[in-house]
Amino acid sequence: MTNPDEPWEDGFQRCVDFHGHACPGLAMGYVAAKAAMAWLGENRAEDEEIVAIVETDACGADAVQVVTGCTFGKGNFLFKDYGKTAFTVLSRAKGKGIRLYARPNAFPRSTEYYVLSERVSSGEADEKDLENFMNLHRQRTLDVLTMAPGEIFEFKEVTVPLPPRARVLDSHPCNRCGEWAMASRLVTTNQGLLCASCATELQ
Ligand SMILES: [Zn+2]
Ligand SMILES: [Zn+2]
Repeated sequence: MTNPDEPWEDGFQRCVDFHGHACPGLAMGYVAAKAAMAWLGENRAEDEEIVAIVETDACGADAVQVVTGCTFGKGNFLFKDYGKTAFTVLSRAKGKGIRLYARPNAFPRSTEYYVLSERVSSGEADEKDLENFMNLHRQRTLDVLTMAPGEIFEFKEVTVPLPPRARVLDSHPCNRCGEWAMASRLVTTNQGLLCASCATELQ
């Protein structure tokens, strides 16, 4: 997991390994999650003691999963599709949580970065543009990693009703396709108990 070619700490490298590349967004999520865990005084969640809520499905969400140990599959990583760079981490044991919201002007893009990223995403960038862009992209990543969390994020203590712990529920077959689904996801219709996909198709 250690990458001697990179200046950053192992914790961020673990996020890079999981996410696939280093980028400013991943760095934002990393800084936020680390600050939130420090605020809560928690270590990585072995089970469901920690709950993370992300309000974006962009790069930063991956770092939050690695740092907090909250994952989609464990049911303690929740996505709210709000399109905001905001991350909340809650502790069941402590009954408290913290929401970090990225200040909109904390990290303005330089005109050069903006122009280059436009060129890259429209496919007009030549090799030199790409190289410049990658350098700036990398520099932004490093800048985020060295900034104080308070410079980037607004912290707000929150009390959010915690989602119930994931339960193992009975499964039953769908009356139409015969596939088994969790009982809590079956829908009662005039054709009996149907799975969600069959119920949607019949609408
Ligand atoms: Zn990314
Ligand atoms: Zn079905």
